[in-house]
This record gives sequence, structure tokens and C-alpha cells, in this order.
Amino acid sequence: MSAPDVLVIGGGIIGCAVAADAAERGLRVTVLERGRTGEEASWAAAGMLSPLAEAVGPGPFLDLLLEARERFPALAPRLRDATGIDIGYRDEGAIVLALRPEDDDVLNARLDWQRGSGLAVERLDAREVLEREPAVTDAVRWGLLYPGDHQVDARRLSRAFRVLAERRGAVVREGEEVREISIRGGRAIGVLLADGAREEGATVVVAGGAWSGRLHGLPRPLPLRPVHGQLAAVEHLPPLFRHIVTAAGIYAVPRADGRMVLGATEEECGFRKAVTPAGLARVLQGAAAISPLLGEAALTGFWSGLRPTTPDRLPVLGADPEVNGLLYATGHHRNGILLAPITGELIGAMAAGEEPALDLGPYGAGRFGDDPEPYC
Ligand SMILES: Cc1cc2nc3c(=O)[nH]c(=O)nc-3n(C[C@H](O)[C@H](O)[C@H](O)COP(=O)(O)OP(=O)(O)OC[C@H]3O[C@@H](n4cnc5c(N)ncnc54)[C@H](O)[C@@H]3O)c2cc1C
Repeated sequence: MSAPDVLVIGGGIIGCAVAADAAERGLRVTVLERGRTGEEASWAAAGMLSPLAEAVGPGPFLDLLLEARERFPALAPRLRDATGIDIGYRDEGAIVLALRPEDDDVLNARLDWQRGSGLAVERLDAREVLEREPAVTDAVRWGLLYPGDHQVDARRLSRAFRVLAERRGAVVREGEEVREISIRGGRAIGVLLADGAREEGATVVVAGGAWSGRLHGLPRPLPLRPVHGQLAAVEHLPPLFRHIVTAAGIYAVPRADGRMVLGATEEECGFRKAVTPAGLARVLQGAAAISPLLGEAALTGFWSGLRPTTPDRLPVLGADPEVNGLLYATGHHRNGILLAPITGELIGAMAAGEEPALDLGPYGAGRFGDDPEPYC
């Protein structure tokens, strides 16, 4: 069999989205996944599509997140028709609560720049919060409503991209660990697998999530580090909330299946992926502060995952500055579910030899220099 046009390293949501897009463009695509697809960060994610409730300021990255969000209303029915998978898209919006006096400054500053940028945000007083979400603690001071910040079921979305990629002819190989990227004469020519086999491909896409920087043969260090997040789920039947509700960095995401996802910690502890009493306590106490009813709800599960994070917390997207045929689609940190469809489009197009539709300058692999901080 002839070599594929595109080898994708990593079968998380990003690798599968890239594969689905590249395959739609008529390219022969192989995804190499060392474990099983969609079982790392993409499986752990809460599924919020929250550019505004999470945003730190205006700029090109916020523009990218907002454009990414626009994809979902049309994507959900398209994926259902193409794969039979309902990605659980919900559009009720998000509310960020001020519970403590010290939250006021943070939320007021955010309200100022977001209003100043013409973004969709509304200030709610305590009564207006409780009208919308009666289960919120009556200690709430005020809040911000983001009607456009939505959610999906991240596990189903990952699965849908994999199924879509395969229906379009991509080959997904699980249990295949890539050890090294092979480069000859300034061009990527394939990869070396952990079992010593070589795979050829005209284009190699780095989509290995938090592990991307560990690949051998990269032309320059890729300073990705894992940022651990712990989550839990409780029952919420009948539903406690309609909106995503967050306060002091902890969120409660109501799912249509009767679960409320609660998250998440941000910890820098290397590649250790363990749910700890201390981490879980932070999440559960934060949730109980949002609503005493959450504190009483039946706990149904807990899990964790590793966000792929760069020093500036921006993704790495696009072509290597020196090596032809080497593309990056990694480092999506807290936004990989939101950014998956647009990443698929951008990198799929580049794999087909097209110019990216957006300026990927801020996300270049060369921006860290030759001697960046190492990952932990
Ligand atoms: C707790 C938590 C909550 C989150 N919540 C949200 C959210 O609400 N909204 C949002 O948009 N984002 C969220 N995220 C972020 C999002 O989950 C990630 O940005 C996204 O899943 C990254 O996708 P990925 O495909 O790059 O990585 P992963 O899903 O980690 O996939 C990488 C894959 O590459 C494979 N791999 C690695 N190295 C190799 C190799 N050498 N050879 C072969 N395969 C390899 C791995 O096995 C893995 O399957 C959250 C993340 C976490 C951890």
C-alpha cells in the first residue's frame, strides 16, 4: 500500500479533527495513537465553549476563540447527520458569580473591557441571577451573564470527529506510539514508531497533546507542559441549573444526561494524573459555595486530565518555520474542545497545500526561541 499523504501523531480531539478535515479534502490520512483515541485531555474536558467567561483580554486569540464558537450551531446537526452522534450542544449561556467582595474588582474589570469591545455580556444584580438560576446560593452579590457561551459533550465530539475521519477514508491506528519525527533534507518524511517500524508520509502533523514536546526529532524544543485538572460529577435530577455557572475559578456544567460536571483544578505536577483528596476538596467546596444544593447532591464520579499548555498559554498552530511538511496542532490548554473544529479546518487546509485562512503568526512554533523553559 502506498504511503499516506498525512501522518497525524495523536488521536485526541485535535488529531481527529485535523484528520477529518484533511480526509474531506481528498488526502490519504493515517492517525497514529499510542493508546486509544480521545481518552486523554479530550475525554476529561468539561466541554465549555466559553471564550468570554474565561477570557483574559481582547486581542487576536479572543477573536480566534469567538470565531471558533461560531462553528458549533451548524456543526452539531452536520455531525449528527454524518456520524449519528449527538454532540450534546447546549446554548443556554453561562453566568459568572461574584460571591466574595474580592470578586468585585475582577468582574468589574472584565465587564469594562468586554463592554468596551462590544461583546455580549450583561450585568445581573443578585435578584436577576436568582431569577435565572434559583438554586444559586442566596449569598450571591451579583453576576455576569454570557448568553453566547455554550457547551458540548467533549467525549462525544471527539468520537464524532474520529468517526467522521474514518467515514471519509482516514485510517486510525491505536496502540501505535510515535517515538521520532524523521526529517531529511529540510523536509519531514515520516515517523519512527516505538516498535522500530518506520512510517512514511508527505506531511506530519504534531497533535500529541501534553506529550507533544516529548517527541524526538523535533527541529526545535516545543515547550509544552501538562496542566492537571481534576473534575467531579454529581446527579442533578431534576435539573439544578440551566446555565453553566462559575465562581472563583470553579464551574458547574449542567448536562442533558442528568449529570452536573464540576471542575476544575489547575495544578503543575508533571505528567502525574491522579485525583487527590485535596484537589477534589477544592472542586467540591467551590461547587457547594455556588449552590448549597450542589453540596448535597449525590457524587457520581471523578476524573482528571492533562491540559497541553505552552509558556504563553496559546496554542501552537501551523507550519514549522524551517522544516517543510511539518505542521503543528497542539498546546490548546483550556480551549481545545472549543478550538477543535477550527483547528481541523486550518491545519487540514495547510496539509492540502493551502494558505491558512487566518493569520497564524501569534501561534508559530518558532516563537519560543531555541532555548525555551523546559516542560516539567
Ligand atoms: C480538566 C480539563 C477540563 C477542560 N475543559 C475544557 C473545556 O471546558 N473547554 C475546552 O474547550 N477545553 C477544555 N479543556 C482542554 C481540552 O480538553 C484540551 O485542550 C484538548 O482536549 C486537547 O486535545 P488534544 O487532542 O491536543 O490532546 P489529548 O486529548 O490529550 O490527545 C493527545 C493524544 O495524543 C496521544 N499521543 C501523545 N503522544 C503520542 C505519541 N508519541 N504517539 C502517538 N500518540 C501520542 C495521546 O495518547 C492522546 O490520545 C479541558 C482540559 C482539562 C484537562
